[in-house]
Amino acid sequence: MKVLITGGAGFLGSHLADAFLERGDEVFILDRGPTLKIRHLLGHHALHFVHDSLFNETILDGLIARVDLVYHLAAVVGVEHYVGDPHEVLNVNINGTQNVLRLAFRHGKRLVFSSTSEVYGRNPRIPWREEDDRILGSTATDRWCYSTSKAVGEHFCFAFAKMGLPVTVLRYFNVYGPRLDAIDIGRVVTILLGQALRDRPLTVIGDGRQTRCFTYVSDAILATVAAGLSPQAVGGTFNVGTDEEVSIRTLAERIIAISGSRSEIQNVRQEDVYGSSYEDIPRRVPDIRRMRVILGVAPKVSLDEGLGRTIAFFRGEARSG
Ligand code: UDP
Repeated sequence: MKVLITGGAGFLGSHLADAFLERGDEVFILDRGPTLKIRHLLGHHALHFVHDSLFNETILDGLIARVDLVYHLAAVVGVEHYVGDPHEVLNVNINGTQNVLRLAFRHGKRLVFSSTSEVYGRNPRIPWREEDDRILGSTATDRWCYSTSKAVGEHFCFAFAKMGLPVTVLRYFNVYGPRLDAIDIGRVVTILLGQALRDRPLTVIGDGRQTRCFTYVSDAILATVAAGLSPQAVGGTFNVGTDEEVSIRTLAERIIAISGSRSEIQNVRQEDVYGSSYEDIPRRVPDIRRMRVILGVAPKVSLDEGLGRTIAFFRGEARSG
C-alpha cells in the first residue's frame, strides 16, 4: 500500500512513517520543516521525502494521485504558536487542510485528519465523548485560534464526507514520547524534562492542579494506523488517548522521580510564561470507548513507563550532541 503523510517529518508523523514502513508499505512524506525526526529513515528504500508545503498544489496533487491513503497531519501546533503567530496557525490549519481535502476528493482517496482534544475547549463536563460541546473563550484570547482552526478542518472533513469522501477524524490527547519537541521547548513534557535533566526548577504554571491525560506515542500510533485501515473507521470521529488523568503537579513529580533529578517544583504565573493571550484548560479527559470498540485499540503504556522511555531518549540525544 502507498501512504502519504503530510507533516510526516513531525513528531506523530515520523512515528506513523515508522509504523507503515515496518508493515512493508511505501511511505510518502510531504513536510516543509526540518528532517531531524526522520533522519533514521532518509535512506530507506520505501520512503519518499518531499520537502515542500501544503500550498504547493502541483506537488500535493501529484502525491495524492499516487497513493492509496492520505494522512493529513501537517499543522502548526503548540501553545507558543497559538499566542505567538495566530495568523500562521489559522492559515496552515484551515487553508492548508482545505487544499488537502479538495485534492483527496478530486482523486477519491481515503483520508485521515489529525484533529485535537483542544476542540472541546474547556467544557467542564468530563470525560468528553466525541459528540460533546465545544466550549471556548473569546476570540480576543489567541489560545483559541488553534481549537477553532482544527474545528474548521473537521467541518471541512464532514462537508467532504457528505459529498462522498471516505474520511476519519482523530482527536489526539496530549501525545508524548521520543522526538516530541526539542528539549526545553514546545509542550509541557519536553519543557519540564529539560529542566529536570539540568537540575533546574520545574516551572509548573498556576497551582498545578490542572489535569491532562498523557498518551504515549506508540498507543496513539496503533489507533492512527487502525483509523486508516479499518473499514468501520470511515466516517467516524475518535478520541485518541488514555483516560489516566494526572495533574501537572503530579507530572512534574513523576518526571523528577523517574529522572532522578535534584530539581524542585516552582509555581509560576501563567501570564509570566505566555502573556495575557493565554488561558489554561482546567481538566482534559477523553471518553475512549469508541477507540476501544471500533478501532480495537486500548492504551497499554502507563505514564511512568512512557516517561521512562522518553527520558531515556532525550538523555541519549543530549549525549550525542
Ligand atoms: N505547563 C506548565 N509549565 C510549563 C508549560 C506548560 O505547567 O512550563 C502546563 C500548562 O499550563 C497546561 C499543561 O502544562 O496546563 C499542558 O500544557 P501544554 O502546553 O503541553 O499543552 P496543552 O495541553 O495546554 O495544549
